[in-house]
Amino acid sequence: MSRRILLIEDNEQNRYLATFLLESHGYQVESAFDGASGLAVAQAKQPDVILLDIQLPQMDGHEVARRLRAIPNLRATPIIAVTSYAMVGDRERSIAAGCDGYIEKPIDPATFVGTIEEIIAAARASRTAS
Ligand code: MN
Repeated sequence: MSRRILLIEDNEQNRYLATFLLESHGYQVESAFDGASGLAVAQAKQPDVILLDIQLPQMDGHEVARRLRAIPNLRATPIIAVTSYAMVGDRERSIAAGCDGYIEKPIDPATFVGTIEEIIAAARASRTAS
């Protein structure tokens, strides 16, 4: 099961809410606050899933996704972008950078974990098919 999730998010309130929702559903959450530390934690911990904020300081989420995909052990790990509703182009760019899907901010507590699980299932299915 995909129970260990790495959350790369610079906003403390979003991190708190996402962690609360995920832990309520039985996930173990590791957090990183920027791209560089997110890449380091991803390599060290080999999470089952990565939740990646796109608007990060210094290195943005698109660049983080590209770098994650270049790490051999993380090539098949589902990466879910968290994009701002206002930033329309972010969604397409996040997919182009290697993400498997996206969730829009603000986080909707009613749908957040369900959407993550749908994206994980679709990512697994497409990896198995190819
Ligand atoms: Mn952010």
